[in-house]
Amino acid sequence: MDSIGSLGLQQGEGAPSCPQEGLPCPSNSSEMVQECLQQFKVTGAQLRQIQTSLLGSMEQALRGQVGPAPAVRMLPTYVGSTPHGTEKGDFVVLELGATGASLRVLWVTLTGIEGHKVEPRSQEFVIPQEVMLGPGQQLFDFAARCLSEFLDVLPVDNQGLQLGFSFSFPCHQTGLDKSTLISWTKGFKCSDVEGQDVVQLLRDAIQRQGAYSIDVVAVVNDTVGTMMGCEPGVGPCEVGLVVDTGTNACYMEEARHVAVLDEDRGRVCISIEWGSFSDEGALGPVQTIFDHTLDHESLNPGAQRFEKMIGGLYLGELVRLVLVHLAQRGVLFGGHTSPVLRSQGSILLEHVAEMEDPSAGAARVHAVLQDLGLNPKASDAEWVQCVCMAVCTRAAQLCAAALAAVLSRLQHSREQQALQIAVATGGRVFERHPRFLSVLRETVMLLAPNCDVSFIPSVDGGGRGVAMVTAVAARLAAHRRLLEETLAPFRLTREQLAEVQAQMREAMAKGLQGEASSLRMLPTYVRATPDGSERGDFLALDLGGTNFRVLLVRVTTGGVQISSQIYSIPECVAQGSGQQGILLNWTKGFNASDCEGQDVVCLLREAIRRRQAVELNVVAIVNDTVGTMMSCGYEDPHCEVGLIVGTGTNVCYMEELRNVASVDGDSGQMCINTEWGAFGDDGSLSMLSTRFDASVDQASINPGKQRFEKMISGMYLGEIVRHILLHLTSLGVLFRGQQTQRLQTRDIFKTKFLSEIESDSLALRQVRAILEDLGLPLTSDDALMVLEVCQAVSQRAAQLCGAGVAAVVEKIRENRGLEELTISVGVDGTLYKLHPHFSSLVAATVRELAPRCVVTFLQSEDGSGKGAALVTAVACRLAQRTRI
Ligand code: ADP
Repeated sequence: MDSIGSLGLQQGEGAPSCPQEGLPCPSNSSEMVQECLQQFKVTGAQLRQIQTSLLGSMEQALRGQVGPAPAVRMLPTYVGSTPHGTEKGDFVVLELGATGASLRVLWVTLTGIEGHKVEPRSQEFVIPQEVMLGPGQQLFDFAARCLSEFLDVLPVDNQGLQLGFSFSFPCHQTGLDKSTLISWTKGFKCSDVEGQDVVQLLRDAIQRQGAYSIDVVAVVNDTVGTMMGCEPGVGPCEVGLVVDTGTNACYMEEARHVAVLDEDRGRVCISIEWGSFSDEGALGPVQTIFDHTLDHESLNPGAQRFEKMIGGLYLGELVRLVLVHLAQRGVLFGGHTSPVLRSQGSILLEHVAEMEDPSAGAARVHAVLQDLGLNPKASDAEWVQCVCMAVCTRAAQLCAAALAAVLSRLQHSREQQALQIAVATGGRVFERHPRFLSVLRETVMLLAPNCDVSFIPSVDGGGRGVAMVTAVAARLAAHRRLLEETLAPFRLTREQLAEVQAQMREAMAKGLQGEASSLRMLPTYVRATPDGSERGDFLALDLGGTNFRVLLVRVTTGGVQISSQIYSIPECVAQGSGQQGILLNWTKGFNASDCEGQDVVCLLREAIRRRQAVELNVVAIVNDTVGTMMSCGYEDPHCEVGLIVGTGTNVCYMEELRNVASVDGDSGQMCINTEWGAFGDDGSLSMLSTRFDASVDQASINPGKQRFEKMISGMYLGEIVRHILLHLTSLGVLFRGQQTQRLQTRDIFKTKFLSEIESDSLALRQVRAILEDLGLPLTSDDALMVLEVCQAVSQRAAQLCGAGVAAVVEKIRENRGLEELTISVGVDGTLYKLHPHFSSLVAATVRELAPRCVVTFLQSEDGSGKGAALVTAVACRLAQRTRI
């Protein structure tokens, strides 16, 4: 037997001399008692085995591997950092499950000033047995009644009290205020609660009670509360250890080691739930027949095997079982038991602690035993004291082995050989049991010799810590409200979108009639979409937002072949002088002088003549929208709408010629370039325009113009997001309120970031990497909020675009007097094509707003260049037909 083994029953001066230490006792009885007590002895090797096995079980659970047997759970809490000490405010704390069959309500004031503490006020309520075992609703109603009763005598006003719920049972937490009970432990067994969100159950009960308006802000368990409420000592307090009715611990783990979290930075508090540790190989050798009996007779047989050897709820019961056993063997109490002794739960932790306390003396033991209806002899008291010691010593040693496993884990994850750490301790076993902490401490020193551990008792049962967590949660909730308020104007209702559709229809009609309208509805002189009979070689020039492309398009019976050369447009050209249709005005960031109002075909002819390189006949000038429609039209004859969502946005569609006032003729069709980017320039979109749209517009090179485009297209979405982020930072919601120079830089937030950030396959940590590249250091809360901002902005863009398309297809359907229209839309533009959700949101909006149109969206492959060639080809085809 090694040194730890002999530690077992030698603790404390003045402890009764126990039989196995070799003192004389009735030989037969002595053997029997020794045999009994021997079972509670744990050797150093056994403790080390438990330490190693528990560590393995913890690491396995962290990796997300679940074995067949119930093991430790390693449940992440939503507590990411230990308190800063700056938390302040008044909080109500409700504790359930921390202290056995009672419920505690506390009023905690955090001053935000280090070292300045206000004593909490608290009240304890005993939970009747029938409530602990009855319907769940009854338990939560009981809790709500206790809350009211407590608050009734306090001078509080009934205005949005913030409550932290300390609920100390194994739970799956999915948010600071969302926690699903996995299973009851510690003598509770209420129906209809397992698998439910306990915060919601409490909220419902408080509402049923109706007396106070209480906001349940956060839920934590007692170990987290204990850790969080601990005053930091030499080092930070990063372990919470509770031995009360049951036992559990929590500690700060590196987030990157927690598989379920998908986090790579910072730390997170993990509730180990070590009570369910059950490795047969490690625990089997230290379990006694009494442990087996206790488990068998418990409310949850087979579960929480480790806890049942340590928790205060069970220590008295183990002692009781041993005493019954020894009495029945005739060793104790003259061979008599009593009805009280024979009934489950009659020996409480308090009794054990009292009987074991050497200072109380044998008289106290006698008194306790007499209360149990027993008639102890002088020698009985000593034996009973020995039994209590054996049971409690084993509990403290097992607890030490478990704590040593946590320390090894910390040493390993922090890559520190020598660890200096503070452990916050809480629970009635620590408070009431004189020897538990000293046995625990000595055993830890032996099992984890490289760790310098200071134990800091929690002063108010973790209530302060719960309030700390609640304070942080309240701050986060306030931030969320501000975020929601900020994004609310971006969340358009169906009615708002239908209104946009209606206004677009009106503007289209007016534009076609030549009346004042923000939609110019330009005739393109393209009178037909391709029919497949087009042939020949065509040269196309494609001036997009970012590139200038020259394409040679060969249309043969075998299809369309394209060779192209791409030139990027230098900014000095894009914004310089414009020697290059009649261009109405530049959009999408182009601002070349001398072009607006000029015939671009002439400019182009001139330019070609200046170069004198080739003899070319410029047949048609096509914008990219028309080109897109035409190029898709070559594949699908239903394609009669062209849509661009790239740097800018625009739409064209086939209109009945009779509706086009500026072009003669009543039969046939003509493609109309809506130039819908300018929609709303007459103020009709002002209802939807947010302060962020106004900022983006003001900073643009064409303030007041292209209002629709500025809510939709790639040139602007990143900027809108950037303006929102600046605003949220100024409110203190993001980036801890610290404005960075980078974020003030125009165009620093590219629209492609929206695509990357909103990509489903991307983890939040990658979102953070993108933003960190931008010099924006953020927390995971920040990353989530940035994601939500991006989603709101791109969703609005796609929905507005969809409302516009709905207006166009409905017009075509009505033009043709059809009940139902089947139509395709050719689409081009990088935003539409590469954003992960844009296209499906456009389609969904169109389905909603134009239910009688069956709309297919086709992505154009070689965009406008191929289309331009096809326009020319169709023009040649129609010209030939006219000549014939
Ligand atoms: P253009 O409209 O200039 O002819 P594009 O259709 O390629 O050319 O659109 C370019 C625009 O697309 C850029 O201004 C940029 O804002 C946006 N963009 C680029 N990459 C992405 C992306 N991955 N996701 C969303 N938008 C993007």
